[in-house]
Amino acid sequence: MKGKTIAAIRTHALEAPLEVAFQSASARFDRRAHLLVEVECADGTVGWGECLGPVGPNAATVAAYSQWAAGMNALETEKVWITLYNALRDQGQRGIAITALSGIDIALWDIRGKAAGLPVSVLLGGRFRERVRAYVTGGFWRAGVDRVSDVADEVARYRTEGFHAAKIKIGFGVARDLAVIAAAREAMGPEMRLMIDANHGYDVVEAVRLGRAAAEYDIDWFEEPVLPEWLDAYAEIRRAQPIPVAGGETWHARWGMKDPVERRCVDILQPDLAGCGGFTEARRIADLCALHGVRLVPHVWGTGVHLAAALQFMAAHVPDPFRPDPVEPILEFDRTPNPLRQEVLQQPIEHENGWVAIPDGPGLGIEVNRDALAEFAARG
Ligand SMILES: [Mg+2]
Repeated sequence: MKGKTIAAIRTHALEAPLEVAFQSASARFDRRAHLLVEVECADGTVGWGECLGPVGPNAATVAAYSQWAAGMNALETEKVWITLYNALRDQGQRGIAITALSGIDIALWDIRGKAAGLPVSVLLGGRFRERVRAYVTGGFWRAGVDRVSDVADEVARYRTEGFHAAKIKIGFGVARDLAVIAAAREAMGPEMRLMIDANHGYDVVEAVRLGRAAAEYDIDWFEEPVLPEWLDAYAEIRRAQPIPVAGGETWHARWGMKDPVERRCVDILQPDLAGCGGFTEARRIADLCALHGVRLVPHVWGTGVHLAAALQFMAAHVPDPFRPDPVEPILEFDRTPNPLRQEVLQQPIEHENGWVAIPDGPGLGIEVNRDALAEFAARG
């Protein structure tokens, strides 16, 4: 068979300790840890992917998938996807089963692009844009500092750097969060866009109270107000307070996105390329959003490989409806400390005045820095 026979699938567990720990309402970070996936074909072609979530379980699941993927044609992305999905379907369907599959799928699309000499975005249907506006993710809780002035100083810095929007973390108590939101709005001025992310740290009563009180600060979206399992609560919060509701980073594959979209739990769906099933599944999820009039803004949290995948997907995101001033997708751009984000790429993905250019080389359009993989290899 003419094609790209999958010869090996390797994982690279990476880790970088942080000098200053930070936290959201659901997780504390004293280190950054991410898992890259490397798929090698019999002819030597290599593709790169990344898995969202805990490194160990993802690595173990990628290893399990490898036995079924070996010998398959890397160019047959649908065939590989459904073969691997089906292998764990009875006990899988979501979670690690899908995040691990995402890393492999991204790597296969990288190979497809390299084989064709085209960026993934062209294979997905075309580049509707050559650059995207980035919005900052930041404003995490840091111990031992005054949170109000800390976040205000941080967002003021983003404004100086040219960003048009910033998302800050909440979920630390309604009164405390409102003080932080007010200070952030004051520091960024009236023009810059502001979003809030509770990382499912509230219950319904708190979320509705916060949303009603925070609306006066002109908030673009209220992300993950409550636990992702509570779909009825999402719908209730969306009706009971005026800020658009966003979510989706913990929902997986088309079946996991179906109910939130059809039951109108969110105004903005946030599938993660490295979590929702890779390019193969993300394009179906984009179709689902387009069918139901739900906005799509991908979630991004990881290394430059993950960023590059999100950029290729966003380049091909169809403006809908096709009008002179379409609602353009914006790139989630984490600004918290993470050496892995930049170091894993030969040419790191940077912003310029809040805009990020979409690589136009073959595949993901990136070169992985193998020295950095050795330097940051997780030990034990
Ligand atoms: Mg989030």
